[in-house]
Amino acid sequence: MTDRKAQTVSGEQMEEQRLYMEQVRHLPDRPRTFHVVTYGCQMNAHDSEYMAGMLKEMGMEEAADREEADFVIFNTCCVRDNAERRALGNVNWLRQVQKKNPRLKIAVCGCMVQQPGMAEKILKQYRFIDLAFGTANLYRMPEMLYRALTEDHAVVEVDQKDVVPEDMPVQRLRQDAAYITIMYGCDNFCSYCVVPYVRGRERSRDMDAILREAEALQKGGVKEIMLLGQNVNSYGKGLEEGATFAKLLHRLDDMGIERIRFMTSHPKDLSDELIEAMGSCKHVLPQFHLPVQSGNDEILKQMNRHYDRAHYLDRLNKLRATVPGIGITTDIIVAFPGETEEQFQDTLSLVEQVEYDSAFTFVYSPRSGTRAAKMDCQIPPEVASERIQRLIALQEAHQRHAMERFLNTREEVLVEGLSRRSETAVSGKGRHGLSVTLEGSGEDVGQIIPVQITEIKNNTLIGQRLTDA
Ligand code: SAH
Ligand code: SF4
Repeated sequence: MTDRKAQTVSGEQMEEQRLYMEQVRHLPDRPRTFHVVTYGCQMNAHDSEYMAGMLKEMGMEEAADREEADFVIFNTCCVRDNAERRALGNVNWLRQVQKKNPRLKIAVCGCMVQQPGMAEKILKQYRFIDLAFGTANLYRMPEMLYRALTEDHAVVEVDQKDVVPEDMPVQRLRQDAAYITIMYGCDNFCSYCVVPYVRGRERSRDMDAILREAEALQKGGVKEIMLLGQNVNSYGKGLEEGATFAKLLHRLDDMGIERIRFMTSHPKDLSDELIEAMGSCKHVLPQFHLPVQSGNDEILKQMNRHYDRAHYLDRLNKLRATVPGIGITTDIIVAFPGETEEQFQDTLSLVEQVEYDSAFTFVYSPRSGTRAAKMDCQIPPEVASERIQRLIALQEAHQRHAMERFLNTREEVLVEGLSRRSETAVSGKGRHGLSVTLEGSGEDVGQIIPVQITEIKNNTLIGQRLTDA
């Protein structure tokens, strides 16, 4: 086991980075405004909040638009090929902007950069990039930026050090809800997935550090926390015995934070202890994102998922029995190498059986360096696209049916913003994780509002305000 204390980056190392922030602040030609373009998952969104926090400490203001900023960072994703292509397309486009504004500095960071040989390739192909760094190097951004601004060459840092950074400055996007990373990396090596290669080995944060962060957020008025990790329910590996995810939930629940959510969980690590915690923690919301990936046992084996359909359904049934009405969502991959029509039918039948509240559906995308990318029988794109369309149609039909259980029930909605469809409506998330729209105005943003669900429109729940608040 690696020494977790050695992985923790705080104290002196963080102090050093703070000194670099000061130095950048005093550079006469430093950028004055920044913009972070974020691709991918919540982990990336949270990393971008750290970048914004550090850049503000360096005296920069956030520009609303990338064309108006003099420092633009692309925080990339590489889970699927299209995420990668979109990021590179946008980097290329920014070059035109740089021609008009020679002061513009450009950085590329995140998972895409972390792939073997990728940083070198990017810098060769895109010579106008000033800075490239990987996910584990994020805390060193002040020093790297200082060097990029004072030395006459691009700065690259992509070594994977598997660190656990603490005490980085952070500029959170929302006042009412906040992300807290509880673990980094992933050890599961699902055969299709690039995450363990680009985010490194699994490592958990100290429970006390998490609790301190949560407490400070609670004091600052945050109503909802979202615990983040690639595999939150294996939290605790490498920590002292008994530091489990369920225990962490109990400790946070005892603090009385209004709403606690988390993502993502792996079905193989969904313990009875966690299901019990879901049932007994008052503030842990009744929702669970449980990626299934496929409904076929042979494909699950090829994917290296370490569970079969029966085990998945057993865990789900237990969750539903413990937390009646719990919101269940999932991720599904179609057209994994070798997937036959019959095997795909098993995924369809699982979707029918479970009735998910929503499902993120993906066409399998080969990722270099993964085991599945080398497998025979890659599925032709036209078959993959036909399969995903059938899956989406089936999921939509069942989703509507699943949502009907909320009709005429009470929900509490944490309002996120004005509705995109109407100026007199707002929308947010109910306790079960579903989007709810209700009449309201900007004043409701950040408030928890009790509603009665009266309708389902365009796959969204519609609520009428209740006055017993
Ligand atoms: N750690 C999480 C999330 C990983 S990435 C988990 O295990 O669930 C989010 C989702 O992207 C995965 O659940 C999977 O459905 C999808 N995904 C990952 N790699 C993929 C690939 N190569 N092709 C298509 N979808 C992929
Ligand atoms: Fe990827 Fe599997 Fe880890 Fe999720 S659990 S990040 S899919 S390797």
